[in-house]
Amino acid sequence: MADATLVDLLITGGTVVNETGGFQADVACHEGCIVFVGDPRFAPRARETLDAKGRFVIPGAIDVHTHIREPGMTQKEDWSTGTRAAAAGGVTTILDMPNTHPPTWSLPALEEKRAAAARQAHVNYGLYGLLDERCLDQLAALAGAGVIGFKLFLGNTTGNLPAPDDGAVLEGFETIAALGLRCSIHAENSPMLFWREKRMKAAGRDDAFAHLAARTDVVALEALSRSIVLSEWTGCRIHIVHESCARSVPVIRDAKRRGVPMTVETCPQYLLLAAEDLTGDAGRIARLNPPIRERWHQDGLIEALADGTIDAIATDHAPHALDEKNLPSFWDNACGFPGVETSMRLMLTLVDRGRLTLEQYVRAASAAPARAFGLYPRKGVVQPGADADLAIVDPRAEGVITGSSLHSIRSRFTPFEGMRTVGAPVATVVRGRVVMRDGRVADCPGWGQQERPQMAPPAPRNLATTTAAILRPEARPFS
Ligand SMILES: [Zn+2]
Repeated sequence: MADATLVDLLITGGTVVNETGGFQADVACHEGCIVFVGDPRFAPRARETLDAKGRFVIPGAIDVHTHIREPGMTQKEDWSTGTRAAAAGGVTTILDMPNTHPPTWSLPALEEKRAAAARQAHVNYGLYGLLDERCLDQLAALAGAGVIGFKLFLGNTTGNLPAPDDGAVLEGFETIAALGLRCSIHAENSPMLFWREKRMKAAGRDDAFAHLAARTDVVALEALSRSIVLSEWTGCRIHIVHESCARSVPVIRDAKRRGVPMTVETCPQYLLLAAEDLTGDAGRIARLNPPIRERWHQDGLIEALADGTIDAIATDHAPHALDEKNLPSFWDNACGFPGVETSMRLMLTLVDRGRLTLEQYVRAASAAPARAFGLYPRKGVVQPGADADLAIVDPRAEGVITGSSLHSIRSRFTPFEGMRTVGAPVATVVRGRVVMRDGRVADCPGWGQQERPQMAPPAPRNLATTTAAILRPEARPFS
């Protein structure tokens, strides 16, 4: 039956689009890799053919900010539903955050999550370890076991992991700088947001605007600036998650110009939704941290994404059971909503509107995330030798976003309800296998594989004054 001269999959007639530009080419995939990109006359014959005429063939999206919730919170999502949603959305790799139960802060906790993912994942995945003051001694072991990077919660959110003391953050950065991995940061100032929240509650405020006010711009700006100072001092590579403030953009631009080893992501909700529109129930569904801000932020964030100051588009995919979003007090309402399935459609809509080029979208959705987390050029580009992780996009597909159609089946709500979109993924290919076609997700639990980072050599700074250096017995400079 098996003919040795046939490759696994041939994608015909499409336009390949990388961050550097587009060109007509057939794409052949074999044994999980791209083996040919070029003129159809020279393409190999294949067991399976996918017609991409009139469509774009782009590297699959890499969503570096998702919360799959398993282990411990499977009433919200699990590895099967979360990765099926990703496949439906043209996402071929997700990076999963460590605020599960247990948190991913030890080797047994990492192994428990890895086993759950290995059984169920429909797309590839990387697993974050937690940077917390209670697990500083676990960072090296977690790195050795293959975490994709670390996550630091400077601002309090789902999972109620307290923000570490700044001293612990400094020591954690010293350690991670020497390991060479990247540390993603939820950059909000916890004491400030708790203080303001307390003041709002004492005044009887219980509404979406009070939540926004408790986490106003300066709460994010302060934590961003502190993260930059500590990254620049230690050489720890950082990634700022869910940037929501236009006022952060010049701060990021300045830091990058100085050579701070940082990358930044934003999410579709900060580009397409505005606090002014989120009254009543819409505010409950859209509640997340940091909050969706006033409309005037949108243009600055989109322009920063287009010019590369903001590197990546992620989603902060954060599913919840619907009853957790509908508690009587706004303050008790769970923060976050699913996003991994709708991101590509929303971002292609911005491309259709002329706000981004398709090449800029490909950079933000795939190439830049791959570079930031040590997966490039194995991922993030359509070229021979790369992994066969692809999305096939119909730029003219029109649709309306509805929560009831989502594959996050315990979390079928979206703040984008009713939004018209232009452009959509019509097929998703993971390691050469078609895992989604025309909206239908193939049943392939366990097909996704764990991704481990291959980072540039570590470049730690100020080594003479790290806590570890000072505590060495021979370190007695003044005695
Ligand atoms: Zn998050």
